[in-house]
Amino acid sequence: MKRYNERFDAYYETDTNKWLEDKCNDEDCDYCSGRPDHPPPFEAGDVVMVIPYNRKATVVEQYLSYDGPEVFWGNVKVRYDDGIEGTCNNWQLKVIEYDLGNDG
Ligand SMILES: [Zn+2]
Repeated sequence: MKRYNERFDAYYETDTNKWLEDKCNDEDCDYCSGRPDHPPPFEAGDVVMVIPYNRKATVVEQYLSYDGPEVFWGNVKVRYDDGIEGTCNNWQLKVIEYDLGNDG
């Protein structure tokens, strides 16, 4: 499925886990310079299952992690149905329902 990521202003394909747009040549570009190799596994608004708690939650934000020059997708901030927010690891979450509002 083709999705749009606001943070990096670029489209990507969820099936292949690849960006559909190349980075531009501007080294100072806010969008492209810090873009991770892979697109985000989760977008804000996605409904996920938090596997360890067997609870549904909505993705608020997925944070970026930095290891030297390397950038990758790290922990995910989620909001449970009761309004409580928490931070989960990538691997604790499974998408139940993609938020299609901002896509296309
Ligand atoms: Zn750019």
